[in-house]
Amino acid sequence: MSIVSCVATVAVPAAAPRFAGLRRVAGPAALNCDVEQPSAVSLQVSGRASSKASRRCVATMAGTGRFVVGGNWKCNGNTASIQKLVQDLNAGEITADVEVICAPPMVYLPRVQSTLDRKYALSAQNCWVGEGGAYTGEVAAEMLVDNNIPWVILGHSERRALIGESDEFIGQKCAYAISKGLSVMACIGETLEERERGDTLNVCRRQLQAIVNAISPADWEKVVIAYEPVWAIGTGKVATPAEAQETHAGIRAYMAEAVSASVASAVRIQYGGSVNAGNCEELARCEDIDGFLVGGASLDGGAFVTICNSARFNN
Ligand code: PEP
Repeated sequence: MSIVSCVATVAVPAAAPRFAGLRRVAGPAALNCDVEQPSAVSLQVSGRASSKASRRCVATMAGTGRFVVGGNWKCNGNTASIQKLVQDLNAGEITADVEVICAPPMVYLPRVQSTLDRKYALSAQNCWVGEGGAYTGEVAAEMLVDNNIPWVILGHSERRALIGESDEFIGQKCAYAISKGLSVMACIGETLEERERGDTLNVCRRQLQAIVNAISPADWEKVVIAYEPVWAIGTGKVATPAEAQETHAGIRAYMAEAVSASVASAVRIQYGGSVNAGNCEELARCEDIDGFLVGGASLDGGAFVTICNSARFNN
C-alpha cells in the first residue's frame, strides 16, 4: 500500500499552520492544491496527479523522530504468564530501527527488569503528581528514577475515565515526572460520542493544552504523545489508517501553533487502539504515525515483536 493511499483526504485550510523540519514530501506527486505556500517548506500536501477533477489532497506533516512502540500490559498477568511473556520477548528479534518500551504492572517491574532483554526499555503505568508522602497506593516519580525505570505512561483514558484524572492533573503529573528525569508517554484521545459530534481534534487540543501549560518547550523532548481514541481501546475496533493519519496531522498542527514548529516536527505521536500483528503494517505506513502504544497485543510476545518490527514500513 502506498503512503498516499493510507493518508486522510482532508481539505487543507487556507491558513494552514507553518512547519519547518519536515521529513519529506509524501507520495510521488507533491501538489500545491491551491494552498498558499509559505516561504520555507511547510505543510506538505500530496495528492494523486490523476485526480485533478476532485482536487482532493492529503495533508501530511510527518514527524522526524525514531519510531517508538510501547507495550502497556495494564493490570494483567501473574508470575507464570509474565515469565512466559518475558521469555517470548527475549527470543524475539527486533530487526527494525525502533525504540521499544514495556510497561508491566508495578509489582512485577523489578522481576521484569532483572529478566527482560535490554533491547526493551521499561515504563511504569502511572506515577503520583508530586513528591512522595502520605498518598496511599501511589508511587512517586522519584521512586521510579531510583529504580532505574526511565518511562511512565500518564493520562491513559482508563485513568481519566475510571479514576477521574483531569486534564490539568495530568498536565501537572507530566511536569513533575519530567522534572525528576522521567520520559512520558502522554495519552490523549476522544470518546465515541466526542468523535461522532465532530470534536475529535477539539478534545485532543484541550488535553494537550493542559500539558503545554504545565511544561516548557524544552520538556517536549521527554514526551511521546500517544493518540488513543477511546472507542478503539480494547474493542477490536481500530481507527482506519486515514482516520488515524488525519488526527495525527491535526495534533502535529496544533503542536506547531501551541509550542513551536520544531517541537511539532520532533515530537513522536503514537497511535493506540486495537493495534495488532495484522493491522500494524498499514498504520505504520502513515506519515504522521511515529509508533504505537499497544495494550492487548503486547501480552503476546510474538505479536508484539511483529508490531515493533512494523517500524520498517514507516518512512
Ligand atoms: C491501550 O490501552 O493503551 C491500548 C491501546 O489497548 P488495546 O491495544 O488493547 O486497544
